[in-house]
Amino acid sequence: VTTGMKIGIVGLGLIGGSLALDLKAQGHDIWGVSRRESTCQMALAQAVVHHASPDLSSLDSAEIVFICTPISAILPTLTELATMLDPTAIVTDVGSVKGELVAPATDIWPRFVGGHPMSGKAEAGLSAATRGLFQGRPYVLTPLPQTLPAAVSQVTELIEQLGSTLHVTDPTAHDRAVALISHLPVMLGASLLQACAHSPQRSLAENLASSGFRDTSRVGGGNPELGALMAQYNQAALLAALADYQAQLTQLTQAIEQGDWQRVQAYLTAAHQQRPAFVSDRPL
Ligand code: NAP
Repeated sequence: VTTGMKIGIVGLGLIGGSLALDLKAQGHDIWGVSRRESTCQMALAQAVVHHASPDLSSLDSAEIVFICTPISAILPTLTELATMLDPTAIVTDVGSVKGELVAPATDIWPRFVGGHPMSGKAEAGLSAATRGLFQGRPYVLTPLPQTLPAAVSQVTELIEQLGSTLHVTDPTAHDRAVALISHLPVMLGASLLQACAHSPQRSLAENLASSGFRDTSRVGGGNPELGALMAQYNQAALLAALADYQAQLTQLTQAIEQGDWQRVQAYLTAAHQQRPAFVSDRPL
């Protein structure tokens, strides 16, 4: 097991801070960079990192850098890093979409490996960072055909140290899968809430809503900026997922219109049988 690597982490928020905590506990030398000086000071005070500064050039001798900024800052950060990193350094990111990032990032820095840890929580920022966030969770890597295998294995080793389960796929397949299981549910939850809010029966429905409604609407009521960013950065894959969903809804609507209750039940039975393959009711 490799320990004692000099690891840079840019963006000390929920994901960057949590990565720093776990990789520090594995014996690596953690160099944090965040936009605000106050965040750097907090990261040092809470011993999340060994060193912290708002200055990217502090990472000039890092062996591997995780870019954990908001998605819009990933390519600009990499462009700046590319002027200062050691040519052998590996860079990876944690952005939730990959299609629009991985090819341009690889052009900027050939030793770039796209990544996405499937862990998270509702809170953001360094104060939400916790140990063990990645333990037992999927972590996706999206190398391109030209990505150096040695760079992929180096990132893989660190992911294994986090206790994550590795999945390797291409950026497009990643974005389609994430659109289906993460971004589509946000849009469905939001449209369900809007359908209820604009109904003439709204106030009675408000009073009657219970646990089933709470479960199906939960992600639709989440952070609006994050939801809009999902749609913006994963537009093509989200549109494909919405089209698949609309086709399913049309099938179900037709069976109900026709009063074909056998078909409705068969549809619901099939859905019931599919669910355990996607989620168990154990807490995630
Ligand atoms: P977050 O808690 O808001 O953390 C991002 C941090 O980056 C901010 O706290 C900010 O810190 C810092 N930052 C912003 N712009 C920067 C810049 N230009 N240079 C350096 N630091 C900058 O967000 P997050 O949830 O950790 O998400 C970060 C990334 O992880 C995103 O790309 C997201 O797609 C991905 N991701 C998120 C989740 C999730 O569930 N949240 C899951 C998987 C992947 P200061 O301004 O305080 O310095």
